[in-house]
Amino acid sequence: MKAYAVRNLRLCTKDCLCLYVCPVGATDTEDSIIDRKKCIGCEQCAKACPSGAITMMPLELPVQQSHLPAVMDACKQLETHKCYQENMARYLLMKSSSFNQKRLAQALMLSNRLMAEDINRERGYMLPQSRMTQQYLEGLLDLYPDDEVVQTHVKALLQSLSFHETKES
Ligand code: SF4
Ligand code: SF4
Repeated sequence: MKAYAVRNLRLCTKDCLCLYVCPVGATDTEDSIIDRKKCIGCEQCAKACPSGAITMMPLELPVQQSHLPAVMDACKQLETHKCYQENMARYLLMKSSSFNQKRLAQALMLSNRLMAEDINRERGYMLPQSRMTQQYLEGLLDLYPDDEVVQTHVKALLQSLSFHETKES
């Protein structure tokens, strides 16, 4: 399977191992970007990374799994609850003066955010090949017609992604 490497900045500790093993100089720990045009998909960086920060992405993405409307609705409700719970934890963080309560509130904020992200992925919003992602990006263009940064980058993203489903399908 043909693939290219992508780095998760949240996990990268900048120890530069990927830099040393890459045979074509595609990784750059200064700007944290792996050059997709240079990458030959050898996987050496992913194997060397001690933090699990590099993932191999297939060039051809699989078709998104379809879900029943009832499943999509349940996911949406659950995600709304998670956002609500994250906000409650944020409020507790602001109001509490106890060190331990603040730590607990921070942990609750983070865990609810991660769960909301997982649910969003399940719904298709975080899959680069999905119709939901395409609709979301097109919605951003409509929402910010005068924002040059949004227009430039969102249009570039729409051009670079190969969606499996169109809006009409
Ligand atoms: S090897 Fe992993 S942790 Fe180290 S700089 Fe590369 S991506 Fe970051
Ligand atoms: S997969 Fe290979 S070529 Fe691509 S960035 Fe990693 S080490 Fe370099």
